[in-house]
Amino acid sequence: MAEMKLLPFDKLVPYRPRAFVPEKIDLGDWGQIATLFDLLEARAPRCKTAAQFQRWLLDASELSAALDEESAVRSIAMTCHTDNAEAERAYLHFVEQIEPRVKPRQFKLAEIYLRHPARRKLPQKRWFVFDRNARLQVELYRAENVPLETEEARLGQQYQKLSGSLTVPFRGEERTLAQMGRYLEEPDRPLRQETWELTAGRRLREAERFEDNFEQLLKLREQIAANAGFPNYLEYAFQARGRFDYSPADCRKFHAAVEKEIMPAVRRLQAERRERLGLKSLRPWDLNVDPLNRPSLRPFERAEDLPARAQDIFDKLDPRLGAGFQLMRDLRLLDLDNRKGKAPGGYQSTLAESRLPFIFMNAVGIHRDVETILHEAGHAFHALAARREKLHAYRSAPIEFCEVASMSMELLGNEHIETFYSEADARRARHDHLEGIVAIFPWIATVDAFQHWLYTHPRHRRAERRRAWLGLMDRFGGDVDWSGHEEARANLWHRQLHIFLHPLYYIEYGIAQLGALQIWANSRKDKTRALSQYRGALALGGSRPLPELFAAAGCRFDFTRRTIKPLVRLLRDELEKLG
Ligand SMILES: [Zn+2]
Repeated sequence: MAEMKLLPFDKLVPYRPRAFVPEKIDLGDWGQIATLFDLLEARAPRCKTAAQFQRWLLDASELSAALDEESAVRSIAMTCHTDNAEAERAYLHFVEQIEPRVKPRQFKLAEIYLRHPARRKLPQKRWFVFDRNARLQVELYRAENVPLETEEARLGQQYQKLSGSLTVPFRGEERTLAQMGRYLEEPDRPLRQETWELTAGRRLREAERFEDNFEQLLKLREQIAANAGFPNYLEYAFQARGRFDYSPADCRKFHAAVEKEIMPAVRRLQAERRERLGLKSLRPWDLNVDPLNRPSLRPFERAEDLPARAQDIFDKLDPRLGAGFQLMRDLRLLDLDNRKGKAPGGYQSTLAESRLPFIFMNAVGIHRDVETILHEAGHAFHALAARREKLHAYRSAPIEFCEVASMSMELLGNEHIETFYSEADARRARHDHLEGIVAIFPWIATVDAFQHWLYTHPRHRRAERRRAWLGLMDRFGGDVDWSGHEEARANLWHRQLHIFLHPLYYIEYGIAQLGALQIWANSRKDKTRALSQYRGALALGGSRPLPELFAAAGCRFDFTRRTIKPLVRLLRDELEKLG
């Protein structure tokens, strides 16, 4: 892309000199890209030896990394300059004109790979993960599902449009529901109740539309699964998401373990909160406020202070992680401060060819910024650790492990958070973080168990769905008094985007959090060893199956009570110490 001035960093060079993709190629021009796919297809039959075939695979990998980086660079330029028409045009051109043409060609390469006689000659252990992913991609493909998936995406957009468009009148102004969120942290209880009731009521008025939208999605998904030859969408989705290493039954064990091991801790924390707030019962609007009515944490005044203080944390943790973050600072691979014209939110993006991470956020001086930089730095360390891996497909791991990298960094980094806070504030930040971890498990279990029910009860009725959801709220909701708001409780799932847009996608965060907690537990016994296992596991990228990645990091890939029980004990002890 020519408009390099739109990027915070200078032009980056590929990690290794290109061997196949021409130096001067314009990756916005489909004709030039197509020529490379033609060359690869023509060359495949001439690969006789394993070495020739591996060279072919590495050339295909080089092309896909170059395309991946092109897409990332255009997306970064756009999110850094949402008001720049040229950046938007360049990004849309790639998404609309290039990517849809790339996909079928990459699919064709996967087919060629699978049919190739030299495939059997490849070293098995090295190509195991690549091979099973290629097989999956080809086996699950059904031409008749392509239009259904397009329709699914359209319905998903409809959901987003609907939930994003909802506003409420508040203090003479029209406000989005997201803007109302901060009032739930206000010490003034009647104000919290008023804002909670306003937003819950607004969502409830659209309940019919959310239900209709979901029922159309459900029907489509059942059809997609049937077309691919699966008895239900649950079974299909496990395959389609490449979940080779765990099953729906494992997830059900996770739900049971959360109920048995985590719910008592949740109830204890809820009781503590209720007592501190001096209330007879906790209502839905009492869950986000600081129970001691303290003002919000202020980690820093100026966004420019954020990188240096974060640097301190990583240096204290591990000199190699510190060096990685310093490299990102030197190369200007951080765009952290909030300013006009930037897209909202935060993300880490990997530049696949230069094999470098980039972190984007909108820091304004709240505690959330500290959490975000630690989390995204964990993803960045993952990308840096896997730099030496030759195969593009192996330089990134499945999401279940990617989130181990980032969530561990939140836990480990929080141990040195005094670079931002007084000792008392640091303890408070750590307490809130751990309390949040305990509290999210039941919600993950609820959302996941609900989806298991949805996709294994074809043709269920609306009333049955409602009963199934309420049963889960009883199991995992804890001691919150919803009286007078029964309808809001019964429809609470309407706000969970994943159920609509990313079906059966949420359990990953629970699995990853269990990994992160184990790494954190290990670090309390032997910090050097835990950090070295962490880096070692990250360096494997996606070259090994999930259980091996977890094992390399010093954790068990297991979601049963056996793993969860000691972690809950550690969380409880730690929370008690932090007060
Ligand atoms: Zn993440």
